[in-house]
Amino acid sequence: MGGHDTRSEERDRERTGRTNRRDFLLGSAAALGLSAVPASARASAVDGRPRAMQAEEVATATSAEGMVSSVHPEATRVGTNVLEDGGNAVDAAVAVQFALNVVQPHGSGIGGGGFMLVYSADEDVTYAVDNRERAPVGADPEMFLGEDGEPIPFDQRHMSGQAVGVPGTLRAIDVALKRFGTRPLERLIQPAIDLASPGFREATVDAYLAEVIAEEVDNFNDAARSVFAPGGEPLEAGDSLLQPDLADTLELIRDEGVEAFYRGEIAEAIAETVQDTGGTMTTNDLAAYNVTMDHPEYVEYEDVVIRTMSLPSSGGLTVGHVLKLVESFDLGEYGPRSTEKYHALAEAFHRAYADRGAYMGDKLFADAPWQGLLDEEYLAERRDEISLSTATEPPWEPGDPWAYQPGEPYRTSPLVADPAEMARSLDAESAETVLGMLAALLAVSRSDAGARAGAAAGRPGPDRATPLAADRGQTTHFTTADSEGNMVSWTSTIEQFFGTKMMVPGYGFMLNNELTDFDATPGGPNEVRPNKRPLSSTSPTIVFRDGEPFMTVGSPGGTTIITTVAQIIQNVTTFGMGLAEAIAEPRIYADDDPELYWEDGVPEGVREELSGLGHAIQDESVGLGNAQAILVRDGEYVGAADFRRAGAVGAPES
Ligand code: GLU
Repeated sequence: MGGHDTRSEERDRERTGRTNRRDFLLGSAAALGLSAVPASARASAVDGRPRAMQAEEVATATSAEGMVSSVHPEATRVGTNVLEDGGNAVDAAVAVQFALNVVQPHGSGIGGGGFMLVYSADEDVTYAVDNRERAPVGADPEMFLGEDGEPIPFDQRHMSGQAVGVPGTLRAIDVALKRFGTRPLERLIQPAIDLASPGFREATVDAYLAEVIAEEVDNFNDAARSVFAPGGEPLEAGDSLLQPDLADTLELIRDEGVEAFYRGEIAEAIAETVQDTGGTMTTNDLAAYNVTMDHPEYVEYEDVVIRTMSLPSSGGLTVGHVLKLVESFDLGEYGPRSTEKYHALAEAFHRAYADRGAYMGDKLFADAPWQGLLDEEYLAERRDEISLSTATEPPWEPGDPWAYQPGEPYRTSPLVADPAEMARSLDAESAETVLGMLAALLAVSRSDAGARAGAAAGRPGPDRATPLAADRGQTTHFTTADSEGNMVSWTSTIEQFFGTKMMVPGYGFMLNNELTDFDATPGGPNEVRPNKRPLSSTSPTIVFRDGEPFMTVGSPGGTTIITTVAQIIQNVTTFGMGLAEAIAEPRIYADDDPELYWEDGVPEGVREELSGLGHAIQDESVGLGNAQAILVRDGEYVGAADFRRAGAVGAPES
């Protein structure tokens, strides 16, 4: 589950020219300069089983000038250069995303989507740019059911054209640059072109990528195999990663803009690839795609305010739900590795995930009791079910947050009335269209209470046909900050490693399998519908203290994203840890199934006590998540990158 780490420290030194990373940890990024993108992870988690972790192994940097934290040193270098050249946090984040498409092609890219949070310092407003993939107009609630009416096994449905959602990453880049950026796309994409082009600053395969290629080589389509296993031999660590088709695609986007992707020859190639493999996506679906720009979820916890994604990501509501459920247990009194802490968290996870499965889906298609879920009285009712002296028995049923939802729920009528018509009516030409869509989103209409009650009853829980291991570890999270105080927290994904394993022939990028995040079984809030966005767990977060942004954090890992982000926030706030300690601290995971997963470092005696309380603690440790984060401390940024996947931080020279 999760871990496909890692790269050795020696290789880090080779790649970065560093000889002594402890020097870096003692100094600041500014003092060390850009050529010294810090080494980060050491071999830690192989096959998802990390050894015990130390805070010193989390890559960190300190600077007042800006910060970049990503999962890859080359991407961090590219983003740091943008800051150094005077670009802002959004410019840097865009450059990081393009670079990641080249150096971590299995994790994210223009064939995928994600969720981006932007804190705009001069406006003092946080925006959520939702670029989640959408189901094509031809999608059908029963499309993941076999002839026997049962869900098609995950292993089969995730590698078909039906799994491909209409990609959103490039549209988010376009909109974010128009709204917040200071640099043109053609400049921010160029470093990625150089990394992808043979003979320029060629990327190399790192140990992490090599491991994923070796695992997936038999699943690749011919185009992907020709890049990642030329001549049939999987690329190995240290090999050149030559991607001329991807370089050409990025050049086309550089020269013609993102419309080449959504309306031009790339759109045609995507539609052809998807249709050839059983999907319905057309060039109309691509032309109709647009992002939404909205305000994020808002949760008050202890002395901070947490802003993170709202539906269709379950991240915001569920991170908030978990933290609010444990808030009154004064876990700070017990300590971060106490039985009480892990026990209370596990109990909160069981309940929060039961509610997640019952009530959450794309908010434009399914009414969700989003205020009820975080209502103090509802939370108190759920908290009363938890005792610190014994574990509760499964099954954990969802509560009734509707009873605490003020007023009537709302529903956005145009999409529900006729999503196909809505999709066709969207004009993807310019950022103004986004404003038009925003207006459509706000033109809400009351739904009738009967429909609401009917929808809430008898909803199926989460899709258990998705194996747990496959539900984790696929995304990437990166975060940037600049000297003006702007911050970006962006989780970007193609869902599984290498998505559908299908590369668009001649264009060099992978297609996502995000639609497998829908429930395969129809009837619930997360059933497949045309133009709908599948439920996500991604939780790009910005935390505020005393009205000021104080921390960004996010992680990959499917449903474990939520528990990872909640625990890191808790480590910093409740337990007063520094950022590196908060990320290194061993994490646990549970959902509305009984199994309680844990990372090395959770003390053996504590695990025995948890078992004694009645928890189904697993025999073997696992690796959970991979966080990148920035903390604001004494007027400076502290950046941190998880060692669970060899991340890297960078800061511009002052
Ligand atoms: N598809 C997942 C989600 O949106 C993210 C991929 C992952 O990190 O596992 O929740």
